[in-house]
Amino acid sequence: MDLLTVMKIFYGVIVFLFGAVIGSFLNVLIFRLPKKENVVSESSHCMSCNHKLGPADLVPIFSWLFLGGKCRYCKAKISPQYPIIETLNAVMYVLLFLFVCSGEPRLSLLGYCAAFSALLVTSVIDWRTMEIPDSMWITVLVGGIIVYIDEIIAEGFEWGCLIERVIGFFAASGVLFLLAVVTKGGMGGGDIKLMAACGFLLGWKTVLLALVMGGLIGTVYLIFSAVKNKGKIKRKVPFAPHLAAAVTICMFAGPQIIEWYLKLCGITGGHTHVH
Ligand SMILES: [Zn+2]
Repeated sequence: MDLLTVMKIFYGVIVFLFGAVIGSFLNVLIFRLPKKENVVSESSHCMSCNHKLGPADLVPIFSWLFLGGKCRYCKAKISPQYPIIETLNAVMYVLLFLFVCSGEPRLSLLGYCAAFSALLVTSVIDWRTMEIPDSMWITVLVGGIIVYIDEIIAEGFEWGCLIERVIGFFAASGVLFLLAVVTKGGMGGGDIKLMAACGFLLGWKTVLLALVMGGLIGTVYLIFSAVKNKGKIKRKVPFAPHLAAAVTICMFAGPQIIEWYLKLCGITGGHTHVH
């Protein structure tokens, strides 16, 4: 094994642990943001017996496993949401590190991780409450700005790149805004703001792809839930989880999917090769 691989594994482990710790904070956000509780000042306590939790109860992923998914003090069941969110967040951070930042500990990794975590929290909260906290789409936007700063550091400032992102801010959100006007509120303001932030992160081409993909994923979900509920179509469906899934896929492979699709249509994407 060469030094580069060793470094990559070393960074990968750190990224995983960092992701698990942040994941455990995301669980706090998921429970406290909808209740407008303070997310930092109040110490962690059991949801059933209110017993204050010690450091040994708060180790991400492992505490839940070692305690068999039960509270140490009152033996009440602890939601598997805790280890699931922690593991998912940790694994996704490692995948972002390896495949989006090519295994380099770059500044942009922080931006992508912040955006992903905010999308994750948004998805769960929107799923449960049909609401998107402002702090979460703002976090996605901050993530986008961090990614953009890293791009400037690496490649220098170019007007084209900035314009691509600024148009991105208005592209998918603009489509959703028009939909909201046409359907008189059928589309939530939270989704519009979320896609504005995602547009700055991804640029306009990729965010439009994410919007189409999100619509497709949402449609598949609607069909499945209609089949499951014997033909009854849900009136109100949270859109953010489907958008977030699409945006996450696009973080990894957006430009590649666009290139593949254009090739499929016989358009080469404007690049003319002179031989
Ligand atoms: Zn308890």
